[in-house]
Amino acid sequence: MNKPQILIVEDDTAVSNLIATTLELQEYQYRKASNGASAVMEALSYRPDVMLLDLGLPDADGVDIIRKIRSWSNMPIIVVSARSEDADKVEALDAGADDYLTKPFSVDELLARLRVALRRVRCDSQKVSGESSVYRNGELKIDYAAGCVYLGEKEIHLTPIEYKLLCLLAKNTGKVLTRNFIVREIWGSGYAAGDTSSLWVFMATLRKKIETDPAHPVYIRTHVGIGYRMIRQG
Ligand code: CA
Repeated sequence: MNKPQILIVEDDTAVSNLIATTLELQEYQYRKASNGASAVMEALSYRPDVMLLDLGLPDADGVDIIRKIRSWSNMPIIVVSARSEDADKVEALDAGADDYLTKPFSVDELLARLRVALRRVRCDSQKVSGESSVYRNGELKIDYAAGCVYLGEKEIHLTPIEYKLLCLLAKNTGKVLTRNFIVREIWGSGYAAGDTSSLWVFMATLRKKIETDPAHPVYIRTHVGIGYRMIRQG
């Protein structure tokens, strides 16, 4: 893969410059857009590998940008926003964002999230199915080779983070995984340990997709104060 191309959508020049400097040091290529209209235009013409998206833009709400992009592209979108309420995160993730980073963010954390998104791009572009391995638990089926998840006959569309989360729990079915362990496995060590609120959000959106009644989950059980466990269905 050539140098990854990142589109920075941000109207705050200081933040935009900070991200640009960080990307330069990593030898990523980038372009900047400072409003919604140019973000959509750049997404179409520049075809970035990953989009970093601020939600509060002068001419548009970032969530609408996500919906627009999702109507024609699966490019990873990482939201970088000052909105820190869980409801804002869920709205952005439901609209199709892949990840969510709250301002102020650490540069290491931003890079960790970018690496996760870029690994997914690589996976997608070399989707050669080797020997097929399939996980089955009740109605839930994960086809690891194809990267697809099914509930009964129905295919479930997960974002990359939700998929990683589900695979991690599935591979450890029956075991309780602590929140810090999960966060490290998903985002890597660059992620600020202790901030597990994003994990809570991803767990909520994942459950909404795989559980019949997300308020009474049968697949992923919460162990309050500890973590989560995938339950083997009888
Ligand atoms: Ca803004």
